[in-house]
Amino acid sequence: MKGVGITKAITHAVYQLESTRGSYVYLWRQGSNTILVDSSLPGKGPSMIAELDAAGVHPQKILITHYDVDHIGNMAMLSEHYSAEVWIPQEDAPYVTGEKARPGIKRMIGAMIKVDMPKAWSTLGAGHEVGGLYAVASPGHTPGHLAYRADQVLFVGDAFRTRGDQVIPSPRFLAWDRDLEKTSRARLLGDFAGWICPAHGEPLAWPPL
Ligand SMILES: [Zn+2]
Repeated sequence: MKGVGITKAITHAVYQLESTRGSYVYLWRQGSNTILVDSSLPGKGPSMIAELDAAGVHPQKILITHYDVDHIGNMAMLSEHYSAEVWIPQEDAPYVTGEKARPGIKRMIGAMIKVDMPKAWSTLGAGHEVGGLYAVASPGHTPGHLAYRADQVLFVGDAFRTRGDQVIPSPRFLAWDRDLEKTSRARLLGDFAGWICPAHGEPLAWPPL
């Protein structure tokens, strides 16, 4: 994708969609796999498609980290445009569909902002592998939050954020279970070395030098 798009390269396999600033979506490309992690805020779909088209990329799969609207906002539009498969964390799926109300303050957000569901979608759980990315249980921010891991890259969704060269928690008021979130953060980072890619904050090489 060198020189053909505005999509920012983090490594040879990982790209950050600049159109998704505010709630980043990442593109992972390895071998024949072309995967998006998350789908950003409602309304970002057309600019994401423009950015991907400029880069000549057609994602085959969209992996969702959790039920928040700034992560599921364009899964329907993107999956339709690219005929891409959508994968949603099993335990968060009832909140994504609206079958269950999101806990706490997010109940209101869910009631105010309706997100289109893709025509077809699947669920996945911890340990599942889709196109070379492995789902890692990371509950706390939401009950069913999943991170996605490959060799030297960890897409963390909202399990935590980065600021400068620091890892910081997501805002307290957005957490479903703060203690679980902390445990998940420690577990995700425990044996990891490579690029951390958060939805909020910039990619960070880990561990710090
Ligand atoms: Zn979130």
